[in-house]
Amino acid sequence: MGMQTKITLLLIFLGVLPAVILGYFAVKYQEDVLAANTQMHEGFSGLIKSEVARRIRAYRNLLGTAARLLPRDPLPPLACELVLRRILEQDAEHEQGLEGVTYYDRAKRAVASAVATGGKAPKPLEPAQLFTDVVLDTYGGSPTIVTTSPVDFGQGLPGIDSFPRDFVIDSSTHETQIKFLVYGDADEIRGALVASLTPDYLSRTLNQILADLTEISQKVDIYVLDKDDRRIAATQNAKYKDESFLTTALFATLAITDPQVSQRREVKLKTFYTPDWRVVLITRADAVESLRKTKTTWQRVILIGIMASIVLGLVFARNITSPLSRLVHSALAISQGDLSHAVDVQSTDEIGDLAATFELMRINLSRMQENLKDKINELATLHDVGKAISSTLNLSELLNLILDLVMKLMKADRGSIMLLDEEKQELRIAVAKGLPQEVIVKTRVKIGEKVSGYVLETGRPLLIQDPQKSPSFQRIKDSQIYQGSLISVPLIAKEKKLGVLNLCKTETYRLDEKDLEFCKALSNQAAIAIENARLYELAIKDEMTKLFVRRYFDQRLKDEVRRAKRYRTAVTVMLLDIDHFKSFNDTYGHASGDEVLCFLSRVMRESVRNVDIVSRYGGEEFAILCPEQNLKDALTPAERIRSSVEKTELVLQGKPVRCTVSIGVACYPQDAQRPDALMELADQALYFAKNNGRNQVRAFRNLPTVSAPGEGQRKGSE
Ligand code: GH3
Ligand code: MG
Ligand code: MG
Repeated sequence: MGMQTKITLLLIFLGVLPAVILGYFAVKYQEDVLAANTQMHEGFSGLIKSEVARRIRAYRNLLGTAARLLPRDPLPPLACELVLRRILEQDAEHEQGLEGVTYYDRAKRAVASAVATGGKAPKPLEPAQLFTDVVLDTYGGSPTIVTTSPVDFGQGLPGIDSFPRDFVIDSSTHETQIKFLVYGDADEIRGALVASLTPDYLSRTLNQILADLTEISQKVDIYVLDKDDRRIAATQNAKYKDESFLTTALFATLAITDPQVSQRREVKLKTFYTPDWRVVLITRADAVESLRKTKTTWQRVILIGIMASIVLGLVFARNITSPLSRLVHSALAISQGDLSHAVDVQSTDEIGDLAATFELMRINLSRMQENLKDKINELATLHDVGKAISSTLNLSELLNLILDLVMKLMKADRGSIMLLDEEKQELRIAVAKGLPQEVIVKTRVKIGEKVSGYVLETGRPLLIQDPQKSPSFQRIKDSQIYQGSLISVPLIAKEKKLGVLNLCKTETYRLDEKDLEFCKALSNQAAIAIENARLYELAIKDEMTKLFVRRYFDQRLKDEVRRAKRYRTAVTVMLLDIDHFKSFNDTYGHASGDEVLCFLSRVMRESVRNVDIVSRYGGEEFAILCPEQNLKDALTPAERIRSSVEKTELVLQGKPVRCTVSIGVACYPQDAQRPDALMELADQALYFAKNNGRNQVRAFRNLPTVSAPGEGQRKGSE
C-alpha cells in the first residue's frame, strides 16, 4: 500500500469516526427518549388508576354523608327520597356523574329512589348479594391490583390500598354502581345506599385525566381499552377513534414504526374491578418519523463526511506525498545520470529539508561531473593535439600546426612560438600569427629579457591577466607596454629549453588559470614533438647545405616510385654535378668551395617546387626528386637551375667568379621501372652532359642512340 493510500485512509478514518460516533449517540439518545416514554407506561397506568379511585371515593364520601342523614328506622320514604334527591342535586353542581340513587332497608327492599334528569335508577340488586356477598366480602377481603408488568406500581400510590370493592363496573355496558352501608346507632346494618354512575362517567373522567398529559401525548398516544379492545378513553389527537378499527390500527402502526423503538405496551387496570381494562401506549408515528429523520440526517452527514474526508484525504495526502514523489522523480533522473534535473520541492517540512540536501548533493555531483567533463575534454583535446602534432616530423609544419591548434582552442588573438638559437643564446620567432612580418623577422630576445626571455630563463609559465596591475609583469626586465591578457609557457623537452609559446588576447582578464594549466599540459607535448622533429631534421638533412641527405633521398625515391606505380603517375629525377669543381677548391680553397655548395643549394631550392626533394647526393653532386612530374615538366626547372647558376656571379675572396653545372635527367616509368635503375640512367645522362661540353641539361630519353660506343650501350641497358 502506497503512502498516499495510507494517509488517505487515515484521514478518512479520522474524519468519519467522530461523525459516526456522534451520529450513533444522537440516534441512540432519541431512541432512549422514546423508550423512556414508553417505560413511563406503568406510571401512567398508576396515575390513571389513582385518579379514578379518587373520584370514586369522592362519591363514596357523598354517599357516606347521605347515610349519616338516614339513621332512623323506619324512615319515611318521602324523607328518604328528599335526602337522595339532595345528593343528586349536589352532584349536579360538581361532577354530574350520578345517574340515580336507591335506598334499601334492612329487609333489603328498595325504600326510596331518586333519578337525575335524563338518567335512570340503578339496576335492582339481588337481595342475597346486597350485604353479604358483595359488600361484606368487599370489606373483608383486600383489594388486588393486577398488572401485566412485573413492577406493581399500584402498591405505592395513595388511595389504591384502600380502594374499596363496593363499586362495580359492568364490563359490557360500562355501568357503574357504588354501594354504601347505612348503620344504626348500635352499629347494626340498617340498610344500604346504591348509586349508579352515568355510563360515560368513567370515560369522561379518563379523558379528562389523559387530556392533562399534554406533554407526553405529543410523543405517544395513550388509549384505555376494555377487554373487547373498545376505546374507553384516549389522549387528545389520538389517531384511532373508531373502536373496531383500533385493533387493526395498532398492528398497522406497529408495522410502519421501528419495532425496536415503538412498542405497544399494555397495563391491566384490574383495580376497577372490571377485568381486562388496559392502558395502551403507542408511540406517535411522527415521533418515530423524527427519529427516522434524525437517522437519515446522520446517514447523510456521515456520507458527506466520508466523501469530504476522501476528497480532503486525497488532497492532503497528495500534498504530503507529492513533494516526496517529485523527490523520487528527481532521484530517478539523477540515478539515470541526468544531473541537470533540479530537485524542485517547495516544502517547509522534513521532506523539504531532505529535498534541499538532495539538491545540494545534486549540485555538487553536477559540479564534479562538469569538472570531470572539462578534464575529459582537456584530455581529449590534448590527445587530439598530440595525435595532430605527432603526424608530422616537418618542423615548420609542426610549429604552424601547434600554433594553429592552441590559438584556436584558446581563442587567442595573437600567438607565436619562439625557438632558442643555442649558439647566440637568443629567441627568434619561428612561427607567429597576428604579428607584422617585419616584427617576426627582426625580433630577437635575449634569455632573461622581456616576457619570453624571462619565462625561458625561469622555466616557469606566466599568466598575466592585466599587465598594468601584474607585479610579476612589472618586474620583468625591459617588458614592453602591453594591452590585454597574456600566457607565456616555456617549451622544455627532456630538460632542454627549446623555446617559448606565447598567446595573447586583446582584452584583459580573458585568460585564466585554467587556460594556463591547459597551455602547460599542451606545451609539454608540443616541446617533445618539436624536439623530435628537430632531431629528425638533423638526421635527414645535411648540416652545411641544409639539403636532405642521400639516405633520405633514396628512401623517398622508393616511396614515390611505388606511389607513382599505384596512381599511374610519373616521377622524374635529376642528378647535378658542378663543373670543374676541383679547380675551385684548388684556386680559392676548400671553404670557398663550401660557399659555392651553399649557393648552389639555395639556387636549387628556389628553382623547384616545395614538394620536390633536393638532396646532397655526394660531395659536390646533388639529386632532385620531382614526384608526379614527367620529363617534359621537369626539364624546365632543371634548365632554370642551370641558367641561374650560369648567370650568377659569385664573389670568392674578393674576386668575381662564375660556375656552371651539368644535369642528367631520367623519368619513371618511361626510362626505368626501378629506383636504382632510374638513378643509374640519370647518371648516364649526366655523364653524357659532362662529355659533351658541360653546362647543360641532358635527359636520358633524348640521348642520341648512336654516339660514342659506351653511350648507346648505356641507353639500352634499361
Ligand atoms: P667535372 O667537371 O668532371 O665534374 O670536374 P670536377 O673537378 O668537378 O671533378 P669531380 O666532380 O670528380 O670533382 C670532385 C671534387 O669535388 C673533389 C673535391 O675536391 C671536391 N669536393 C668534394 N666534396 C667537397 C666538399 O664538401 N667541399 C669542397 N670544397 N669540395 C669538395
Ligand atoms: Mg663530381
Ligand atoms: Mg664535378
